[in-house]
Amino acid sequence: MKPIASLSLDLDNKWSYMKTHGDPGWESFPSYLDVVVPRVLEILKAHKLTITFFVVGQDAALDENREPLASIARAGHEIGNHSFHHEPWLHLYSDQEIDTELANAEEHIERVTGHRPIGFRGPGFSLSPTVLKVLKRRGYLYDCSTLPTFLGPLARAYYFMTANLPPEEIKRRKLLFGKVSEGFRPLKPYRWQTVAGELCEIPVTTMPLLRLPIHASYILYLSAVSLPAALSYLRVALWLCRLTGTQPSFLLHPLDFLGADDDADLAFFPAMRLPSRKKLQIMGAVLDLLTRHFTVIPMREHARLAGATGSLPVRQPVFEHSR
Ligand SMILES: [Zn+2]
Repeated sequence: MKPIASLSLDLDNKWSYMKTHGDPGWESFPSYLDVVVPRVLEILKAHKLTITFFVVGQDAALDENREPLASIARAGHEIGNHSFHHEPWLHLYSDQEIDTELANAEEHIERVTGHRPIGFRGPGFSLSPTVLKVLKRRGYLYDCSTLPTFLGPLARAYYFMTANLPPEEIKRRKLLFGKVSEGFRPLKPYRWQTVAGELCEIPVTTMPLLRLPIHASYILYLSAVSLPAALSYLRVALWLCRLTGTQPSFLLHPLDFLGADDDADLAFFPAMRLPSRKKLQIMGAVLDLLTRHFTVIPMREHARLAGATGSLPVRQPVFEHSR
């Protein structure tokens, strides 16, 4: 029997990248969901995969995104909450602000998809003890907003290299993708101790031991240098997961399925200079590799199975620079 792995996609929309990057025009919420969602659903169907889509509440609130979002639910995928405003400074919000943020997202997501989320991923991996407490209080089963890598600051520097933001806006974004210390967080599931009770955490998997990112966007970035090397890198990472008994939780993004021919505005993003046809071929190879070695399940099932063992370690939520 193959070990399990979970697969999820953070449904970041064009406007949310522009907003974080500080590009004008995001306020009209430009969307590519009508293009990318059918494309992702098709490749998932071809690989017989059911995964978790983390949806941004603001997108669910807009009529133009209604059909693409409803089609995800119709295809049987789990719908998770990826916040309402997609602000990577969510860890600076108060208890009341977080509660409103989650409630608004839940309401619109449920109205459009028919599903009330029980899983959460913070925008830009933003997380705080207060976020965890409010998630527990609102009945969530799991959080999956940790990315245990040492490379967060490097990814942040890359992201803002071409940005044009005033100093106070840069300051709000100073924890995007996390600090170096994130690399010391656990790779295997555990439970957060909050004042409202315990909450299951499923970390986004990075390479065991080295803690280098292995999510699809990173593989695509490496493939610009050499595709065989990028796939070998993923193969080694998955082999290390098996060796260390780590059930990987693998992460996808819409830009993994979009190319320069779809959207020239996001060219600052890694691997956005590749044509979509090439990217879809690579993504096919990535999903082949994952399904060859693992039984792939949605996050909700991963959290249930991890919790069912009953022996998850309990950790105190300790975060720097947050409420
Ligand atoms: Zn996101």
